[in-house]
Amino acid sequence: MADAAVKGKAESRDSSAAEAERELTDGFHLVIDALKLNGINTIYGVPGIPITDLGRMAQAAGMRIISFRHEQNAGNAAAIAGFLTKKPGICLTVSAPGFLNGLMALANATTNCFPMILISGSSEREIVDLQQGDYEEMDQLAIAKPLCKAAFRVLHAADIGIGVARAIRTAVSGRPGGVYLDLPAKLLSQVMDAAAGQKSLVKVIDAAPAQIPAPAAVRRALDVLKSAKRPLIILGKGAAYAQADDAIRALVERSGIPFLPMSMAKGLLPDTHPQCAGAARSTVLKDSDVVMLIGARLNWLLSHGKGKTWGEPGSKKFIQVDIEPKEMDSNVEIVAPVVGDIGSCVSALLEGIEGKWPAPPADWTNAVKAKKEENIAKMAPRLMKNSAPMDFHGALGALRTVIKERPDAILVNEGANTLDLARGVIDMYQPRKRLDVGTWGIMGIGMGFAIAAAVETGKPVLAVEGDSAFGFSGMEVETVCRYNLPICVVVFNNNGIYRGTDANPTGGSDPAPTVFVKGSRYDKMMEAFGGVGVHVTTPDELKRAVDAAMGSGKPTLINAAIDPAAGSESGRIGNLNPQSVLRKK
Ligand code: ADP
Ligand code: MG
Repeated sequence: MADAAVKGKAESRDSSAAEAERELTDGFHLVIDALKLNGINTIYGVPGIPITDLGRMAQAAGMRIISFRHEQNAGNAAAIAGFLTKKPGICLTVSAPGFLNGLMALANATTNCFPMILISGSSEREIVDLQQGDYEEMDQLAIAKPLCKAAFRVLHAADIGIGVARAIRTAVSGRPGGVYLDLPAKLLSQVMDAAAGQKSLVKVIDAAPAQIPAPAAVRRALDVLKSAKRPLIILGKGAAYAQADDAIRALVERSGIPFLPMSMAKGLLPDTHPQCAGAARSTVLKDSDVVMLIGARLNWLLSHGKGKTWGEPGSKKFIQVDIEPKEMDSNVEIVAPVVGDIGSCVSALLEGIEGKWPAPPADWTNAVKAKKEENIAKMAPRLMKNSAPMDFHGALGALRTVIKERPDAILVNEGANTLDLARGVIDMYQPRKRLDVGTWGIMGIGMGFAIAAAVETGKPVLAVEGDSAFGFSGMEVETVCRYNLPICVVVFNNNGIYRGTDANPTGGSDPAPTVFVKGSRYDKMMEAFGGVGVHVTTPDELKRAVDAAMGSGKPTLINAAIDPAAGSESGRIGNLNPQSVLRKK
């Protein structure tokens, strides 16, 4: 056992008293000490060769170790922990296959600008580099490199402190993202003098330094904004990540400009705020003349800043606030780039509008308000339908009330229709309470995000999952039960992907590729591990079951039977799913 040999007295067969007194440490201890020194106290992972003892010893050293059933879910947990805390979330995996499982989450974290570090054990360099066929042989460093901000390998115990420091600083500074840290098995058991080891550790000072925008850039942005007749502010998840909530709220309110939150920026200001234009999304995108993006990219989620979503070509001027200079002009011209961290940029903008800012033209704010009220009124009756089987709107109407009554709960959301409709229906009231599929629109984040949200915040979590989406991480309900986390999973069960009504066109016995077992009882999965399972068929039953779960804090899975015919192809992004015009029905 590594523990016995280490941090105790070195065994000394010679009579040198000094040698007998010499304290030793090793790679295992140094990794743990380096993380703890930097305020990292939680590891998400899956144990196995060669990092089993690392997890055990980290737990013995007082760290929180959350063991998953699959590395992808542990990686997703680490990624969202990074988003919630501004510290890199740590995912620990075994070599090759475990590493690859975790790598998806690392790439997704990088794409979403979430800080995380994937730490994987790896096999012997000498054998890997000669391709001689080691146990789980793989050149992990080379494979990770293009999928994250940086990849580092440590070969000497004395370099662990520097390696961990570089990984932390890289993950959180500038545009946050994923970092890979490769720890060969041999490194972990490498022994060195404890005092020298202690000295080699690095406490990262000011890991994500403020990046102050140039005063000229701030003035330029304010000039453009002031000239606007129909201004709009778009808040993205970078704004949520920045934790500059008060400054952002003050900027929006003092400017009087309508704002549109991107999915994970919902709640930065309440969706019920009078200036929120969420319910008039198409109108404000199309009709605005100046758009200020704060921590949001003009990627596919905003139709790349062009096309019919954005109205007449040339009708728009963009101001963009972002920490990443390369983001500017990525899709369309940015007339006023403001490069810096959002806290500093928003404070500088706020200073510039202090006292002397004209309210936006009333015909614009009134037009937005009218459109919004019209859309809200149109939606209202659909949310109150208490029918069986439920449709998406009826079920979401019930969940909307749950979040209204428990605004500090965290909502995790994935699926197709389940995602797209919940995003519009469920109002959020507080920052960083909505966690979802992000930039890739990825499926499978559900249980990883829910577990980390519960672990990092201690708040109750409501995970609203399409039945297909849930399948990607469903086995982690065992993890939810094992750690007794206050998570309520609601599976919107419509028997399939998009819908549960497709049939095999050949009449053969195989089901259609988009359908699942009809009438599945996902609630039984939670019961299998000692949690609470409930099957519901109406919005009223759903509301009661969720209230009970959120009140008790017990791990719960509610199987919500949704009409299999409800749901549209690919939810709201059917336009991205090509359909053959030659297909035989
Ligand atoms: P959304 O999908 O919500 O529109 P994106 O992920 O597209 O959000 O955009 C987030 C943006 O926020 C990225 O361009 C990223 O560089 C930026 N960002 C992240 N953190 C900060 C920060 N602290 N300060 C400034 N910009 C940030
Ligand atoms: Mg479904």
